[in-house]
Amino acid sequence: MTGSAYLLEFNGLRILVDCGLYQERELIARNWDPFPVPSHTIDTVLLSHAHLDHCGLLPKLVREGFAGKIYCTAATYDISQIILMDAAHLQEQDAEFKRKRHEREDRKGPYPEVPLYTTDDAKASFPRFSPVGYEQPTPLGDGIEATFYEAGHVLGSSMIKVRISGNGDERTLLFSGDVGRWDTPILRDPTVFEEADYVLVESTYGDRLHEEAKNTEKILTEIINSTRKRGGNIVIPSFALERAQEILYYLNKLLSGDRIPHLMVFLDSPMATSVTEIFERYPDLLDEEMNELLRQRRSPFEFPGLKITRTTDESKVINHISGTVVIIAGSGMCTGGRIKHHLVNNISRRESTILFPGYQAVGTLGRQIVDGAREVRILGQTYPVSARIVQMNGFSAHADRDELLRWLSGLRRPPLHLFVTHGEPDVASYFAHFLREKTGWEISVPKYKDEVILD
Ligand SMILES: [Zn+2]
Repeated sequence: MTGSAYLLEFNGLRILVDCGLYQERELIARNWDPFPVPSHTIDTVLLSHAHLDHCGLLPKLVREGFAGKIYCTAATYDISQIILMDAAHLQEQDAEFKRKRHEREDRKGPYPEVPLYTTDDAKASFPRFSPVGYEQPTPLGDGIEATFYEAGHVLGSSMIKVRISGNGDERTLLFSGDVGRWDTPILRDPTVFEEADYVLVESTYGDRLHEEAKNTEKILTEIINSTRKRGGNIVIPSFALERAQEILYYLNKLLSGDRIPHLMVFLDSPMATSVTEIFERYPDLLDEEMNELLRQRRSPFEFPGLKITRTTDESKVINHISGTVVIIAGSGMCTGGRIKHHLVNNISRRESTILFPGYQAVGTLGRQIVDGAREVRILGQTYPVSARIVQMNGFSAHADRDELLRWLSGLRRPPLHLFVTHGEPDVASYFAHFLREKTGWEISVPKYKDEVILD
């Protein structure tokens, strides 16, 4: 379901829509495979947003010879730089760690002990980016143009419409990217389209319905107040993009409404801090409520008691504070980063709460904890799990089943064909079935490397 990438060919032009990294353990090997077509034969890349499963293989594409432009919004470009540098850095660390271990154990692993790409490769891809504004058609040559529209998923995220004309005829293709949600804090709503000949729609949450935002506030208030009463800490593993800002937004709201006490809140994630600064650079991309706050010179992401920790020394100090604090740290699935140290200090304390605001993939430490493991291994040691464990779904940046249907319901005539993509196989086929029942449209679920001729 990760590793989003579509290759579009027309009149000898090759356009790649997204170039994502595979993140599931059983699909990671695909990241090392040669691209299905040589990189230098691709003319242009259209990038929907800065999540790794959409942009994560761009440094590899450029290193292997791609010399065209990567079109995306300016905010996506800014965030992609942070995300790709972090990914490259982790891959370098990983390769070095593996090399040392294999040397010690005198054996060879299944993958080469070199990083998939380096921080230099990531940097070399940046000059290829070419930011474009929303709703400004960009000519790609030979009767093709692409237009980016607000997707409401993460800052700068887009849905992309490609218009192809030739021989007096015209077709439009609509790539959903990741579809965001309506009436969520911070971002604007997703764009709805009235027509398209071919539609590709993601299906991440095509089989479920999310909690309401009202519940999110209620649950968060209860968790913070009850943890405070017990004298523990609230530890929140969070993704740097969107999730961290949304948590800050809710904490700010609950604090100013006196629904939670004034606690110290640590944003212990340099990456989340950098991404938050980018949010403040693009007020145009934020919703009305955010702009109202900014007009009153009140940053939605700052409040009394919020401490930003940049260095590891500052991070370590958090563990010596007595009384309840809220700690937001990455990585979001506890696979690395500072969150591991905070788990070491809190997971065996009955009075603390570990709050997961997002999906935890199979095979991650986060997934083990939410699945109810009695003990877990962190940084080479085993710890009993005694803290309260809570998982909340209300923070999702993805449309749920009915929101995806709402997005598609804007179409005034059936598309010639609808492709359901970017979801776990069972979820994608469930969602395709659900849509067929609701709409009667021509719908299919393509498989990896399928080719389709569009008339
Ligand atoms: Zn995404």
